[in-house]
Amino acid sequence: MSNLRFQAIKSLTNRQQDIRGYGDHRVTAIFASNVFTQKAQREYLSDEAYKSLINSVKTGSKIDRRMAEQIANGMKAWAMEKGVTHFTHWFQPLTGGTAEKHDSFFTLKGDGTALEIFDGDALTQQEPDASSFPNGGIRATFEARGYTAWDPTSPSFILETAYGKTMCIPTIFISYSGESLDTKTPLLKAIDLVNKSAVDVCHYFDKNVTRVSPTLGWEQEYFVIEESLANARPDLLATGRTLYGHTPAKGQQLDDHYFGAIPERVFAYMQDFEQEAYKLGIPLRTRHNEVAPSQFECAPIFEEVNIAVDHNSLLMEVMNRVAKRHQLKVLMHEKPFAGVNGSGKHNNWSLATDTGVNLLAPGKTPRTNLMFLTFFVNVLKAVHDYADLLRASIASSNNDHRLGANEAPPAIISVYVGKYLTDVLKEVEERVSGKFTEQDEVILKMDIHKNIPELLLDNTDRNRTSPFAFTGNKFEFRAVGSSANCAWPMTILNTIMADTLIQFKKEVDALIEAGEKKEIAVIHIIRKYITESKNICFEGDNYSEAWAQEAAKRGLNNFKDTPRALDVFATDKAKKLFENHDIFTHHELEARHEIMLEEYVKKVQIEARMMGYLASNSIVPPSIQYQNTLVQNVKGLKEIGLTIDTFRSQLEIIENISKHINGVSDNVEKMIEARKKANEIEDMHARAVAYCDEVKPYFETIRYHADKLELVVDDKLWNLPKYREMLFLR
Ligand code: ADP
Ligand code: MG
Repeated sequence: MSNLRFQAIKSLTNRQQDIRGYGDHRVTAIFASNVFTQKAQREYLSDEAYKSLINSVKTGSKIDRRMAEQIANGMKAWAMEKGVTHFTHWFQPLTGGTAEKHDSFFTLKGDGTALEIFDGDALTQQEPDASSFPNGGIRATFEARGYTAWDPTSPSFILETAYGKTMCIPTIFISYSGESLDTKTPLLKAIDLVNKSAVDVCHYFDKNVTRVSPTLGWEQEYFVIEESLANARPDLLATGRTLYGHTPAKGQQLDDHYFGAIPERVFAYMQDFEQEAYKLGIPLRTRHNEVAPSQFECAPIFEEVNIAVDHNSLLMEVMNRVAKRHQLKVLMHEKPFAGVNGSGKHNNWSLATDTGVNLLAPGKTPRTNLMFLTFFVNVLKAVHDYADLLRASIASSNNDHRLGANEAPPAIISVYVGKYLTDVLKEVEERVSGKFTEQDEVILKMDIHKNIPELLLDNTDRNRTSPFAFTGNKFEFRAVGSSANCAWPMTILNTIMADTLIQFKKEVDALIEAGEKKEIAVIHIIRKYITESKNICFEGDNYSEAWAQEAAKRGLNNFKDTPRALDVFATDKAKKLFENHDIFTHHELEARHEIMLEEYVKKVQIEARMMGYLASNSIVPPSIQYQNTLVQNVKGLKEIGLTIDTFRSQLEIIENISKHINGVSDNVEKMIEARKKANEIEDMHARAVAYCDEVKPYFETIRYHADKLELVVDDKLWNLPKYREMLFLR
């Protein structure tokens, strides 16, 4: 019987799949057609209900019961007209994915009449059982019940599959006692916080600003491989990455994939998921090949953070689903293949006012440039003061394979500022000193203003190695992992930004109260912040060993693994930050920390099990089989009277195979021992550290020997699809 690997390859060669016919709609004709947009709201809601919804989205005000009733009715009418039968509260629990629990509109009345009903209560609140979602110990103390509550700032949408349509209502997810159990609740709080603090600071420059919204444009990297090949790789299916596999003769050395022509089947897949995305109002704009073979990227036009986050979660789901009908498998893992680049999800972030100003874009007048500089320097200060939190916001066992692995940004957080702004910062620092005069202020503002426009030319001078880079009118947080939910890094980034802005305002106000002129006070504190956060700025090659040394000298942290990176959540500084701003209570933060540690343990545990399983089921057996063939061969040669010289190579291979089989088996055994020990540890932090330090290191050794076996064993006998097949066959 031929093995699964060859069946997969054969099915590929014989494939007669019609990939035409996907994605031939004009984008504008379908865009947001499955979203309860403002236009649809206008159409299906009473004037009163429409206004109340718009107002709630704008100001965060509560929607009363009567209005909720009306809105629910309008939503139902809209959805039913589109063939929807069910609705669900759609939320993002701490599993990393999304969750749905579908209910039908259909109800039976007492007299047996069948009706389709969707009322205000069904819209605003549901009570899914929370006991099967990660809660970090919150459940033990309280009830198992959880609540989902409608988030009117993210519009409802219709999820369309071949088998039916469901109306999804974006919601938050909290415990019975009000603790957040999802990614959206803290995000919404952080958005609100940064709004208030940024508006306050804007008022030094522009009294017309009444709202500031953080914006996010993510860039999603992913791999696409043949589904049939993926199905023959249990490690890929169980862990999202290949635990074994020798580097192919041709990898990414030639860099011939980047921006190359997109392979036709993948192109059809892209067209298809893009069209699904358009219907859901996800404004995808860019698509291209990435650096590694079979790696691609897509990116939308940026949106307000909450919507952008929902759209990213939704898109990942859509991409997985659509891949199936193309018989492809999409891999969102940060490092599906050793030896070729991993995948990230750059988070482009900025702050936008309701007066249409991007606060991180250089302005046109001296006054707006001072505003720009204020926000810019506050970002530096925030990243400087809370670098550890930012590092922790992107920590995961998946991302550990990427950060610092000589390709993605390193685990050391620093900010790339760019040449012209570096000069501007230097000038501010040097020119303003001690008490200064109005004359200074005028000169300074003029000089800054003169220099800043050149920034726009600075765009080409990108530093692609930086984990957090200024790119002309936004910051690009590059260290985020491809499978991550953007909500977490965005919650932390916006919280630390808000905290810094609040501090900034306090310090400026103190100077103003002491009699300083407003602009002078602002510049004075800007200068102070530049000095205080200089250490975090780095313009050079972030991948170099020299930077690791330099960073250590500067006292910057370099957490190489998740358990250590997460330690920051146990510090007083973090607890105070989140509690002061009402993002998390101590209890909630502890729970979150616990959940992340537990997730780490579980992931490494699954990998370890799979590693052992494949070793004894897919690596060692074909190796022994091949070795036996060689042994027979040697015996035969001996029998017919040949001397050892004639079968020297065979003997060497036989020995070599034994050596590596022992290498695999011995280390798998040791790993299992280490795992047992780790499992006995009660404390989750200590267990995670044990998995990191005692279990995980065996992976590399086991893999080394297994990959050597792959190289020598007869190709016909090898079960697992090889890298060259997964990365290059189509
Ligand atoms: P690249 O980084 O690959 O060169 P671009 O600079 O074109 O790509 O943009 C990357 C992403 O940044 C896009 O998703 C874009 O919408 C987003 N972006 C642009 N301006 C902003 C902004 N003000 N706020 C947030 N994201 C933005
Ligand atoms: Mg980018």
